[in-house]
Amino acid sequence: MHLKKGDTVVVISGRKEDRGKTGEVTRTFPKEGKAIVAGINNKVRHTKPSMANPQGGRIEREAPLPVAKLMVVCQACNKPSRLKAMFVDNKKFRACKRCGEQIPEKVKD
Ligand SMILES: [Zn+2]
Repeated sequence: MHLKKGDTVVVISGRKEDRGKTGEVTRTFPKEGKAIVAGINNKVRHTKPSMANPQGGRIEREAPLPVAKLMVVCQACNKPSRLKAMFVDNKKFRACKRCGEQIPEKVKD
């Protein structure tokens, strides 16, 4: 999985209203190859009133997107980039294929 929580990504395909949008990855699902991006792929759910939500009604939630539809935005060159793996002292890092800069992992998990 090339995406990590905290990455800034751009949507490269999918629904017209989401395409081209950028957002931060808030959750990843490595087994499914999917990720949730803040503010993107909102689905409206109609819910009955419950304890947590006594009013019920319409709730907007982000649905997971396949990572194939997402590209990491490199902070160094500010462009959506393919990533390559880099090894320093036997540790794996991700780097931008365009400019070679490391893609920092903002959130440790
Ligand atoms: Zn770059």
